[in-house]
Amino acid sequence: MRAYLPEYEAVSARTLVEALTLLAQGAGGLDGPAQPPGRRWQPIAGGTDLMVLFSAGKLPAGRYLDIWGIEELRGITVAPSHIDLGALSTFTQVRQHPLLACEFSSLTQAAIESGAIAIQNRGTLGGNIANASPAADSPPALLCYDAELELVSLRGARWVPYAEFHTGYKQMQRASDELIVRIRLPRLSAVERERQVHYYRKVGTRKAQAISKVCFAGSFVRDGERLSRVRIALGSVAPIPLRCPRTEAVLEGAVPTSAVIAAAQEVLGSEIAPIDDIRSTQDYRRTVAQNLLFDFLAQAALH
Ligand SMILES: Cc1cc2nc3c(=O)[nH]c(=O)nc-3n(C[C@H](O)[C@H](O)[C@H](O)COP(=O)(O)OP(=O)(O)OC[C@H]3O[C@@H](n4cnc5c(N)ncnc54)[C@H](O)[C@@H]3O)c2cc1C
Repeated sequence: MRAYLPEYEAVSARTLVEALTLLAQGAGGLDGPAQPPGRRWQPIAGGTDLMVLFSAGKLPAGRYLDIWGIEELRGITVAPSHIDLGALSTFTQVRQHPLLACEFSSLTQAAIESGAIAIQNRGTLGGNIANASPAADSPPALLCYDAELELVSLRGARWVPYAEFHTGYKQMQRASDELIVRIRLPRLSAVERERQVHYYRKVGTRKAQAISKVCFAGSFVRDGERLSRVRIALGSVAPIPLRCPRTEAVLEGAVPTSAVIAAAQEVLGSEIAPIDDIRSTQDYRRTVAQNLLFDFLAQAALH
C-alpha cells in the first residue's frame, strides 16, 4: 500500500537556525508546548531511507523537515588534528575525497560499497548514522576511527563519541530538537599513519547492492612485531553497530601469533550477539566474523 500524500506536511529549511527553530518548537522549546510525536518535525536529508518507507506506505504521517539545502551541513574540511565531514556529506563525496582515501580508507571503502551510484549521490553520512540500522555500512568504519558527532540544537552544541551514540536497537543519544551537524575523525600523527593498517570487508548475498550479513572494520598501528591502537568494529552482529573492546584488549600490545589470534577469535565470538533473520543465521554470522578477524590479522604479516 502506498502512502497518502495529503497526510504529510513538509518544509525546506534554508539555514541551520531555521531548521533548529522548527525542531525546538516541536520539542516544546521556545516556550511552546511539546507536540505529540506526529506533530514534531523529523529531518529528511537525502531521503534514501525515508522515501523507501514512504513508497511502501510505512512512513508515519506527520511533519518532515527537508535539510538538504542547508549549506552549514555540507563540506569536508581538513585540519592538522582532524577531518570534519558535514552531516550532509554524500557517499559520493566521501569516496572521492583523496585524504579520506589515504588516512581513513575503510570509510572510503564503506562509501564505495553502499548502494549504487544513485544512492551514493543522495545518501548522506548523517542519515546513515541517524537511521541507526545495525546493518549500515559506514558505522563500523566510523567506530574504528574514533569518530565524534556534533549535535546541535537551539540549546547549544555538544560532542558525543560515536561509540556511545547508539544506545539500543534504533535508539540513540539524539534529542528530538537536535541535528547531527558534523562528524569528526581525529588524525593520527604522521609516524603512526605510516604504520597504520586498515581493513574493511562487507559480506552480503551479492558483491554489490546487498545489505550486509556481516560488516567488519579493523585497524591497528604496527609497533615492530606488536600491534597497537587496535580497533575492531562490526555491523549486523548486534542490535547496534558494535565496537569490540574485549577483543581489542586481547590484541593490544600483542604479537599476533596463532595462539593470540585464536584467543581473540574466541573472545570475539562471545562479544558479538548476532541473530537469525531473513538475511542470515547467527551461526553463520559468528563464523564469518571470526574468519574476518583472522583475515584482518593476517595483514600484520603482509605489511
Ligand atoms: C537501494 C538502496 C540501497 C542502499 N544500500 C545501502 C548500503 O549498501 N549500505 C548502507 O549503509 N545503506 C544503504 N542504504 C540506506 C541509505 O541509503 C543510507 O542509510 C543513507 O546513508 C541514508 O541517508 P539519507 O540522507 O538518505 O537519510 P534520510 O532517508 O534522509 O534519513 C534517514 C534517517 O536519518 C535522519 N537524519 C538524516 N539526517 C540527519 C541529521 N543530520 N541529523 C539528525 N537526523 C538525521 C532522518 O530523520 C531519518 O530518520 C540503501 C538504500 C537504498 C534505497
